[in-house]
Amino acid sequence: ATPTALMVGTGRGAQLGILIRGPEVLESTRVVDTVVLDKTGTVTTGEMTLVATVADGTIEEEVRRRAAALEGASAHPIARAVVAGFDGDVPAADDFRSIDGLGVRGLVDGVETVVGRPALIEEAGWPLPASLGTAVDEAQEAGRTPVVVGWDGAARGVLVVSDTVKPTSAEAVERLRGLGLTPVLLTGDNERAARAVAAQVGIAEVEAEVLPADKVAYVRRLQDEGRVVAMVGDGVNDAAALAQADLGIAMGAGTDVAREASDLTIVSGDLRGAADAVRLSRRTLGIIK
Ligand code: ADP
Ligand code: MG
Repeated sequence: ATPTALMVGTGRGAQLGILIRGPEVLESTRVVDTVVLDKTGTVTTGEMTLVATVADGTIEEEVRRRAAALEGASAHPIARAVVAGFDGDVPAADDFRSIDGLGVRGLVDGVETVVGRPALIEEAGWPLPASLGTAVDEAQEAGRTPVVVGWDGAARGVLVVSDTVKPTSAEAVERLRGLGLTPVLLTGDNERAARAVAAQVGIAEVEAEVLPADKVAYVRRLQDEGRVVAMVGDGVNDAAALAQADLGIAMGAGTDVAREASDLTIVSGDLRGAADAVRLSRRTLGIIK
């Protein structure tokens, strides 16, 4: 394409709410055949809510209080839900540690406290009582995310967190498919929650329980298979994957890290923008009229 055509394409992108890093990006957009979609904050709103607390009645409040104390220091969408779900006095946490893609830990009231995926509690070597194991299973079955809260050597409660699929995500996936792209859902969340979201938007291929570092490796594996990969994300635990992809697409409402790692930014955070971008590049480069 001529430089003029590329400039016109870039300008048209801006009108559509698609910010393009440079004219050469339209070229990589055109050849993409696979689009990897991050779940939380990309396909879903990422505005999570705390829908239930499962714990012995005498410590239910304590479970939420300790979790809120730690999550106050985390930027994860789950953290916001947990903080909003407790309306008492939140103590300050000491020795806070964020374990990417797993959860958070630290000292609350001087006692080691862990909040996150069941795998994080397992890793700590702390027992999960059978009743809480059931709560984890039930939450996952319902397409929700269980957050296990433990302190002083044992899991003591499960916070059930729920996310909502963006109203335009299903149509976006249909459009991407219509353009000949294969959509894949990639997430650090549990397999069943991921499948529930995938089913709602019409995605068949799901990679779940993937740690942040493994998201990059997954993108690289697809590339090794000869696929040309677009990755759409919000930058929470997926910035390296956005940078690795042949085309990184950031959600406008996502983090600065996402925008910095990406070639395109969809200002509105509406996933249909990803399909618009592909159409735009093909048009600009004269593939379709
Ligand atoms: P996604 O790929 O869906 O964006 P992440 O990689 O950010 O998810 O996180 C994967 C999983 O790790 C979450 O579903 C959650 O179970 C757990 N997790 C991550 N951060 C936190 C946190 N701050 N508090 C509790 N759980 C967390
Ligand atoms: Mg994410």
